Amino acid sequence: MADKRDYYEVLGVPKTATDAELKKAYRVLAKKYHPDANPGDKEAEAKFKEASEAYAVLSDPDKRAKYDQFGHAAFDGSAGGQAYDFNMDDIFGSMGDIFGDLFGGGRSRARSNGPMQGANVRASVRVTFEEAAFGCEKELDITLKDECTSCHGTGAKPGTSPVQCAKCGGKGQIVYTQQSLFGMVRNVTTCPECGGKGTVVKDKCPDCHGTGYIANRKKIQVTIPAGIDNGQSIRIRGKGEPGTNGGPRGDLLVEVIVSPSPVFAREDYNVFSNVSISFADAALGNEIRIKTIDGEVLYDVKPGTQSGTRVRLKGKGIPSLRDSKLRGDHYVTLNVKIPEKMTSEQKEALRTYDALMRGENPSDGTEGSSTKKKRGLFK
Ligand SMILES: [Zn+2]
Ligand SMILES: [Zn+2]
Repeated sequence: MADKRDYYEVLGVPKTATDAELKKAYRVLAKKYHPDANPGDKEAEAKFKEASEAYAVLSDPDKRAKYDQFGHAAFDGSAGGQAYDFNMDDIFGSMGDIFGDLFGGGRSRARSNGPMQGANVRASVRVTFEEAAFGCEKELDITLKDECTSCHGTGAKPGTSPVQCAKCGGKGQIVYTQQSLFGMVRNVTTCPECGGKGTVVKDKCPDCHGTGYIANRKKIQVTIPAGIDNGQSIRIRGKGEPGTNGGPRGDLLVEVIVSPSPVFAREDYNVFSNVSISFADAALGNEIRIKTIDGEVLYDVKPGTQSGTRVRLKGKGIPSLRDSKLRGDHYVTLNVKIPEKMTSEQKEALRTYDALMRGENPSDGTEGSSTKKKRGLFK
Protein backbone atom coordinates (compact mmCIF):
# COMPACT_ATOMS: atom_id res chain seq x y z
CA MET A 1 0.00 0.00 0.00
CA ALA A 2 3.08 2.23 0.19
CA ASP A 3 2.72 3.25 -3.44
CA LYS A 4 -0.81 4.50 -2.89
CA ARG A 5 -1.29 8.22 -3.31
CA ASP A 6 -2.67 10.33 -0.52
CA TYR A 7 -6.46 10.65 -0.89
CA TYR A 8 -6.40 14.40 -0.42
CA GLU A 9 -3.67 14.67 -3.06
CA VAL A 10 -5.73 12.50 -5.41
CA LEU A 11 -8.68 14.88 -5.14
CA GLY A 12 -6.43 17.94 -5.06
CA VAL A 13 -7.96 19.35 -1.89
CA PRO A 14 -6.44 20.43 1.44
CA LYS A 15 -6.83 18.23 4.52
CA THR A 16 -9.30 20.79 5.85
CA ALA A 17 -11.61 20.50 2.84
CA THR A 18 -15.33 20.63 3.59
CA ASP A 19 -17.78 18.00 2.35
CA ALA A 20 -18.90 20.41 -0.37
CA GLU A 21 -15.31 21.01 -1.52
CA LEU A 22 -14.66 17.25 -1.62
CA LYS A 23 -17.78 16.66 -3.63
CA LYS A 24 -16.95 19.45 -6.05
CA ALA A 25 -13.37 18.19 -6.57
CA TYR A 26 -14.60 14.66 -7.07
CA ARG A 27 -17.26 15.67 -9.54
CA VAL A 28 -14.68 17.42 -11.71
CA LEU A 29 -12.40 14.34 -11.72
CA ALA A 30 -15.24 11.87 -12.17
CA LYS A 31 -16.56 13.77 -15.17
CA LYS A 32 -13.08 13.98 -16.69
CA TYR A 33 -12.04 10.34 -16.17
CA HIS A 34 -15.36 8.53 -16.22
CA PRO A 35 -15.03 5.32 -18.30
CA ASP A 36 -18.13 6.24 -20.27
CA ALA A 37 -16.41 9.45 -21.38
CA ASN A 38 -13.09 7.65 -22.10
CA PRO A 39 -13.96 4.32 -23.68
CA GLY A 40 -11.02 1.90 -23.66
CA ASP A 41 -8.67 4.32 -21.89
CA LYS A 42 -7.08 2.23 -19.12
CA GLU A 43 -5.25 5.18 -17.59
CA ALA A 44 -8.45 7.23 -17.33
CA GLU A 45 -10.19 4.25 -15.77
CA ALA A 46 -7.43 3.87 -13.19
CA LYS A 47 -7.61 7.57 -12.37
CA PHE A 48 -11.37 7.35 -12.09
CA LYS A 49 -11.13 4.42 -9.67
CA GLU A 50 -8.47 6.18 -7.64
CA ALA A 51 -10.59 9.34 -7.32
CA SER A 52 -13.73 7.31 -6.52
CA GLU A 53 -11.95 5.40 -3.80
CA ALA A 54 -10.54 8.62 -2.32
CA TYR A 55 -13.98 10.20 -2.36
CA ALA A 56 -15.66 7.09 -0.91
CA VAL A 57 -13.36 7.33 2.10
CA LEU A 58 -13.21 11.09 2.61
CA SER A 59 -16.94 11.66 2.14
CA ASP A 60 -17.69 9.25 5.00
CA PRO A 61 -17.01 11.02 8.33
CA ASP A 62 -16.09 7.74 10.08
CA LYS A 63 -13.74 6.55 7.37
CA ARG A 64 -12.24 10.01 6.97
CA ALA A 65 -11.43 10.17 10.69
CA LYS A 66 -9.77 6.74 10.48
CA TYR A 67 -7.87 7.74 7.36
CA ASP A 68 -6.67 10.98 8.98
CA GLN A 69 -5.39 8.96 11.92
CA PHE A 70 -3.90 5.89 10.25
CA GLY A 71 -3.60 6.74 6.57
CA HIS A 72 -4.10 3.87 4.13
CA ALA A 73 -3.27 1.43 6.92
CA ALA A 74 -6.74 2.20 8.33
CA PHE A 75 -8.29 0.07 5.61
CA ASP A 76 -5.82 -2.75 5.03
CA GLY A 77 -6.16 -4.16 8.53
CA SER A 78 -2.56 -3.48 9.55
CA ALA A 79 -3.37 -0.73 12.07
CA GLY A 80 -6.12 -2.69 13.77
CA GLY A 81 -8.52 -0.87 11.52
CA GLN A 82 -11.32 -2.61 9.73
CA ALA A 83 -10.24 -3.91 6.36
CA TYR A 84 -12.39 -2.30 3.73
CA ASP A 85 -12.60 -3.81 0.34
CA PHE A 86 -13.28 -1.26 -2.33
CA ASN A 87 -15.20 -2.64 -5.17
CA MET A 88 -16.64 -0.45 -7.82
CA ASP A 89 -20.19 -1.58 -7.19
CA ASP A 90 -19.98 -0.34 -3.61
CA ILE A 91 -18.64 2.94 -4.81
CA PHE A 92 -21.28 3.33 -7.47
CA GLY A 93 -23.98 2.28 -5.06
CA SER A 94 -23.01 4.82 -2.42
CA MET A 95 -22.52 7.57 -4.96
CA GLY A 96 -25.87 7.37 -6.61
CA ASP A 97 -26.57 10.95 -5.60
CA ILE A 98 -23.47 12.33 -7.27
CA PHE A 99 -23.89 10.40 -10.48
CA GLY A 100 -27.56 11.15 -10.44
CA ASP A 101 -27.02 14.81 -11.12
CA LEU A 102 -23.74 14.33 -12.97
CA PHE A 103 -25.37 12.26 -15.67
CA GLY A 104 -28.76 13.85 -15.65
CA GLY A 105 -30.41 11.14 -13.62
CA GLY A 106 -29.06 8.41 -15.90
CA ARG A 107 -27.77 6.37 -12.98
CA SER A 108 -30.43 5.40 -10.53
CA ARG A 109 -29.71 5.10 -6.85
CA ALA A 110 -29.29 1.49 -5.87
CA ARG A 111 -29.00 -0.16 -2.52
CA SER A 112 -25.42 -1.10 -1.88
CA ASN A 113 -24.52 -4.53 -0.63
CA GLY A 114 -21.69 -2.86 1.28
CA PRO A 115 -21.94 -1.88 4.97
CA MET A 116 -25.17 -0.06 5.76
CA GLN A 117 -26.24 1.62 8.98
CA GLY A 118 -29.25 0.07 10.74
CA ALA A 119 -32.60 1.83 11.05
CA ASN A 120 -33.37 4.24 13.88
CA VAL A 121 -35.67 3.02 16.63
CA ARG A 122 -38.21 5.27 18.36
CA ALA A 123 -39.28 5.04 21.98
CA SER A 124 -40.80 7.36 24.55
CA VAL A 125 -40.27 8.02 28.23
CA ARG A 126 -42.60 9.72 30.72
CA VAL A 127 -41.16 12.15 33.26
CA THR A 128 -42.64 14.49 35.87
CA PHE A 129 -42.65 18.26 35.50
CA GLU A 130 -39.78 18.54 38.00
CA GLU A 131 -37.77 15.72 36.37
CA ALA A 132 -37.96 17.56 33.05
CA ALA A 133 -36.91 20.79 34.75
CA PHE A 134 -33.85 19.43 36.51
CA GLY A 135 -33.02 16.36 34.44
CA CYS A 136 -32.93 12.78 35.63
CA GLU A 137 -31.83 9.27 34.77
CA LYS A 138 -34.42 6.86 33.39
CA GLU A 139 -34.19 3.21 32.55
CA LEU A 140 -35.93 2.24 29.34
CA ASP A 141 -37.13 -1.28 28.77
CA ILE A 142 -37.17 -1.80 25.03
CA THR A 143 -37.04 -4.58 22.50
CA LEU A 144 -34.05 -4.37 20.18
CA LYS A 145 -33.07 -6.56 17.29
CA ASP A 146 -29.70 -8.28 17.57
CA GLU A 147 -27.85 -10.50 15.18
CA CYS A 148 -29.02 -14.09 15.63
CA THR A 149 -26.21 -16.00 17.34
CA SER A 150 -27.25 -19.37 15.87
CA CYS A 151 -26.76 -18.30 12.27
CA HIS A 152 -24.60 -15.21 12.85
CA GLY A 153 -27.11 -13.09 11.03
CA THR A 154 -27.11 -15.08 7.81
CA GLY A 155 -30.62 -16.45 8.38
CA ALA A 156 -29.47 -19.87 7.18
CA LYS A 157 -29.99 -23.02 9.23
CA PRO A 158 -26.77 -23.81 11.19
CA GLY A 159 -24.64 -26.14 9.09
CA THR A 160 -25.96 -24.61 5.88
CA SER A 161 -25.04 -21.38 4.15
CA PRO A 162 -26.97 -18.88 2.12
CA VAL A 163 -26.48 -19.58 -1.56
CA GLN A 164 -25.59 -17.16 -4.28
CA CYS A 165 -28.61 -15.41 -5.74
CA ALA A 166 -29.21 -16.77 -9.23
CA LYS A 167 -30.92 -13.65 -10.51
CA CYS A 168 -28.05 -11.21 -9.83
CA GLY A 169 -25.22 -13.72 -9.70
CA GLY A 170 -24.41 -12.65 -6.14
CA LYS A 171 -23.90 -9.00 -6.95
CA GLY A 172 -27.08 -7.86 -5.20
CA GLN A 173 -27.63 -5.47 -8.05
CA ILE A 174 -28.94 -5.69 -11.53
CA VAL A 175 -26.90 -3.69 -13.98
CA TYR A 176 -28.15 -2.53 -17.33
CA THR A 177 -26.85 0.10 -19.70
CA GLN A 178 -28.54 3.16 -21.06
CA GLN A 179 -27.64 5.75 -23.68
CA SER A 180 -26.56 9.11 -22.21
CA LEU A 181 -24.62 12.28 -23.01
CA PHE A 182 -21.36 10.38 -22.52
CA GLY A 183 -22.34 7.26 -24.32
CA MET A 184 -23.56 4.14 -22.60
CA VAL A 185 -24.17 4.58 -18.88
CA ARG A 186 -24.52 1.76 -16.43
CA ASN A 187 -27.73 1.73 -14.45
CA VAL A 188 -27.77 -0.15 -11.18
CA THR A 189 -30.85 -1.33 -9.31
CA THR A 190 -31.22 -3.49 -6.24
CA CYS A 191 -31.88 -7.13 -7.06
CA PRO A 192 -35.55 -7.86 -6.27
CA GLU A 193 -34.81 -11.53 -5.64
CA CYS A 194 -32.33 -11.13 -2.77
CA GLY A 195 -33.05 -7.53 -1.77
CA GLY A 196 -29.46 -6.51 -2.48
CA LYS A 197 -27.82 -9.17 -0.32
CA GLY A 198 -26.49 -11.22 -3.22
CA THR A 199 -27.49 -14.40 -1.41
CA VAL A 200 -30.69 -16.25 -0.70
CA VAL A 201 -31.44 -18.63 2.16
CA LYS A 202 -32.66 -22.10 1.20
CA ASP A 203 -32.91 -23.67 4.69
CA LYS A 204 -34.03 -21.08 7.21
CA CYS A 205 -32.43 -20.82 10.65
CA PRO A 206 -35.11 -22.08 13.10
CA ASP A 207 -34.14 -19.59 15.83
CA CYS A 208 -34.69 -16.45 13.80
CA HIS A 209 -36.97 -17.90 11.09
CA GLY A 210 -34.48 -16.85 8.47
CA THR A 211 -34.48 -13.16 9.36
CA GLY A 212 -30.97 -13.24 10.84
CA TYR A 213 -32.20 -11.26 13.85
CA ILE A 214 -33.47 -12.06 17.31
CA ALA A 215 -35.54 -9.61 19.37
CA ASN A 216 -34.07 -9.01 22.81
CA ARG A 217 -35.51 -7.04 25.72
CA LYS A 218 -32.95 -4.55 26.90
CA LYS A 219 -32.63 -2.02 29.65
CA ILE A 220 -31.19 1.22 28.40
CA GLN A 221 -30.10 4.04 30.65
CA VAL A 222 -31.30 7.43 29.38
CA THR A 223 -30.00 10.71 30.74
CA ILE A 224 -32.81 13.29 30.55
CA PRO A 225 -31.15 16.71 30.34
CA ALA A 226 -32.37 19.55 32.56
CA GLY A 227 -34.75 21.89 30.75
CA ILE A 228 -36.18 19.40 28.26
CA ASP A 229 -39.78 20.08 27.26
CA ASN A 230 -42.69 17.87 26.36
CA GLY A 231 -42.30 16.32 22.90
CA GLN A 232 -38.56 16.83 22.55
CA SER A 233 -36.39 13.83 21.70
CA ILE A 234 -33.05 12.51 22.85
CA ARG A 235 -30.80 10.68 20.38
CA ILE A 236 -28.80 7.75 21.73
CA ARG A 237 -26.27 6.77 19.13
CA GLY A 238 -25.78 3.14 18.22
CA LYS A 239 -28.84 1.79 20.09
CA GLY A 240 -31.05 1.34 17.05
CA GLU A 241 -31.36 -1.64 14.74
CA PRO A 242 -28.21 -3.51 13.73
CA GLY A 243 -26.53 -2.50 10.49
CA THR A 244 -26.11 -4.83 7.57
CA ASN A 245 -22.85 -6.19 6.16
CA GLY A 246 -20.88 -4.84 9.11
CA GLY A 247 -22.49 -1.40 9.07
CA PRO A 248 -23.06 0.45 12.36
CA ARG A 249 -26.29 0.23 14.33
CA GLY A 250 -28.90 2.95 13.92
CA ASP A 251 -29.82 5.34 16.71
CA LEU A 252 -32.46 5.24 19.41
CA LEU A 253 -34.68 8.33 19.45
CA VAL A 254 -36.41 8.77 22.79
CA GLU A 255 -39.33 11.19 22.90
CA VAL A 256 -39.83 12.80 26.30
CA ILE A 257 -43.42 13.07 27.51
CA VAL A 258 -43.77 15.44 30.45
CA SER A 259 -46.71 14.71 32.78
CA PRO A 260 -48.67 17.86 33.60
CA SER A 261 -48.10 19.26 37.09
CA PRO A 262 -51.07 19.96 39.36
CA VAL A 263 -49.30 23.15 40.51
CA PHE A 264 -47.13 24.46 37.70
CA ALA A 265 -47.59 25.34 34.08
CA ARG A 266 -44.72 25.99 31.70
CA GLU A 267 -44.10 28.18 28.71
CA ASP A 268 -40.58 28.01 27.27
CA TYR A 269 -38.40 28.25 30.35
CA ASN A 270 -40.90 30.19 32.48
CA VAL A 271 -43.09 28.62 35.16
CA PHE A 272 -46.58 29.85 36.05
CA SER A 273 -48.65 29.14 39.13
CA ASN A 274 -51.57 30.51 41.13
CA VAL A 275 -51.49 31.15 44.88
CA SER A 276 -54.48 31.96 47.09
CA ILE A 277 -53.97 34.60 49.76
CA SER A 278 -56.39 35.75 52.42
CA PHE A 279 -58.15 39.12 52.29
CA ALA A 280 -56.26 40.13 55.42
CA ASP A 281 -52.85 39.25 53.91
CA ALA A 282 -53.74 41.11 50.71
CA ALA A 283 -54.92 44.16 52.64
CA LEU A 284 -52.31 44.25 55.40
CA GLY A 285 -49.37 42.57 53.65
CA ASN A 286 -47.69 39.47 55.03
CA GLU A 287 -44.92 36.99 54.44
CA ILE A 288 -46.33 33.94 52.66
CA ARG A 289 -44.89 30.66 51.42
CA ILE A 290 -44.92 30.04 47.67
CA LYS A 291 -44.25 26.63 46.15
CA THR A 292 -41.59 26.74 43.41
CA ILE A 293 -39.82 23.95 41.54
CA ASP A 294 -36.96 24.44 44.04
CA GLY A 295 -39.30 23.99 47.01
CA GLU A 296 -41.06 26.62 49.11
CA VAL A 297 -39.81 30.21 49.15
CA LEU A 298 -40.90 33.09 51.36
CA TYR A 299 -42.51 36.06 49.66
CA ASP A 300 -43.54 39.44 51.08
CA VAL A 301 -47.05 40.31 49.93
CA LYS A 302 -47.26 44.09 49.83
CA PRO A 303 -50.09 45.77 51.79
CA GLY A 304 -52.97 46.61 49.44
CA THR A 305 -52.27 43.83 46.95
CA GLN A 306 -55.18 43.39 44.50
CA SER A 307 -56.52 40.00 43.57
CA GLY A 308 -55.00 38.80 40.29
CA THR A 309 -51.69 40.60 40.83
CA ARG A 310 -48.85 38.76 39.08
CA VAL A 311 -45.44 38.74 40.72
CA ARG A 312 -42.16 37.51 39.32
CA LEU A 313 -39.75 35.23 41.12
CA LYS A 314 -36.64 35.88 39.10
CA GLY A 315 -34.52 32.88 38.15
CA LYS A 316 -36.95 30.37 39.68
CA GLY A 317 -38.01 29.01 36.31
CA ILE A 318 -36.75 26.06 34.25
CA PRO A 319 -33.01 25.71 33.57
CA SER A 320 -32.07 26.26 29.93
CA LEU A 321 -31.38 23.12 27.91
CA ARG A 322 -28.24 24.75 26.51
CA ASP A 323 -26.87 26.12 29.78
CA SER A 324 -28.46 24.89 33.01
CA LYS A 325 -27.04 27.88 34.89
CA LEU A 326 -29.44 30.09 32.95
CA ARG A 327 -32.98 29.83 34.20
CA GLY A 328 -36.36 31.27 33.32
CA ASP A 329 -38.59 33.04 35.83
CA HIS A 330 -41.54 31.91 37.90
CA TYR A 331 -44.68 34.06 37.60
CA VAL A 332 -47.14 33.78 40.45
CA THR A 333 -50.70 35.09 40.26
CA LEU A 334 -51.94 36.07 43.71
CA ASN A 335 -55.68 35.43 44.05
CA VAL A 336 -57.52 36.80 47.06
CA LYS A 337 -59.69 34.08 48.45
CA ILE A 338 -63.14 34.98 49.72
CA PRO A 339 -64.12 32.69 52.60
CA GLU A 340 -67.07 30.45 51.71
CA LYS A 341 -67.99 29.65 55.28
CA MET A 342 -67.57 31.86 58.33
CA THR A 343 -68.44 31.56 62.01
CA SER A 344 -70.87 34.05 63.51
CA GLU A 345 -67.94 35.61 65.34
CA GLN A 346 -66.01 36.11 62.10
CA LYS A 347 -69.11 37.52 60.42
CA GLU A 348 -69.59 39.96 63.27
CA ALA A 349 -65.97 41.09 63.03
CA LEU A 350 -66.34 41.59 59.29
CA ARG A 351 -69.51 43.62 59.76
CA THR A 352 -67.69 45.78 62.25
CA TYR A 353 -64.89 46.25 59.73
CA ASP A 354 -67.38 47.04 56.98
CA ALA A 355 -69.17 49.63 59.10
CA LEU A 356 -65.83 51.24 59.92
CA MET A 357 -64.97 51.40 56.24
CA ARG A 358 -68.28 53.22 55.64
CA GLY A 359 -67.79 55.52 58.59
CA GLU A 360 -70.85 54.12 60.36
CA ASN A 361 -71.26 53.07 63.96
CA PRO A 362 -70.79 49.30 64.12
CA SER A 363 -73.26 49.06 67.09
CA ASP A 364 -76.17 50.12 64.78
CA GLY A 365 -79.11 47.75 64.41
CA THR A 366 -78.85 44.47 62.48
CA GLU A 367 -81.20 45.64 59.70
CA GLY A 368 -78.50 47.80 58.19
CA SER A 369 -76.04 44.94 58.29
CA SER A 370 -78.24 42.66 56.26
CA THR A 371 -78.61 45.34 53.56
CA LYS A 372 -74.86 45.76 53.47
CA LYS A 373 -74.47 42.05 53.13
CA LYS A 374 -76.56 42.06 49.96
CA ARG A 375 -74.43 44.81 48.49
CA GLY A 376 -71.39 42.66 48.95
CA LEU A 377 -68.39 43.33 51.08
CA PHE A 378 -65.74 43.11 48.41
CA LYS A 379 -65.51 44.79 45.12
ZN1 LIG B 1 -30.66 -17.33 12.92
ZN1 LIG C 1 -30.01 -11.19 -6.17
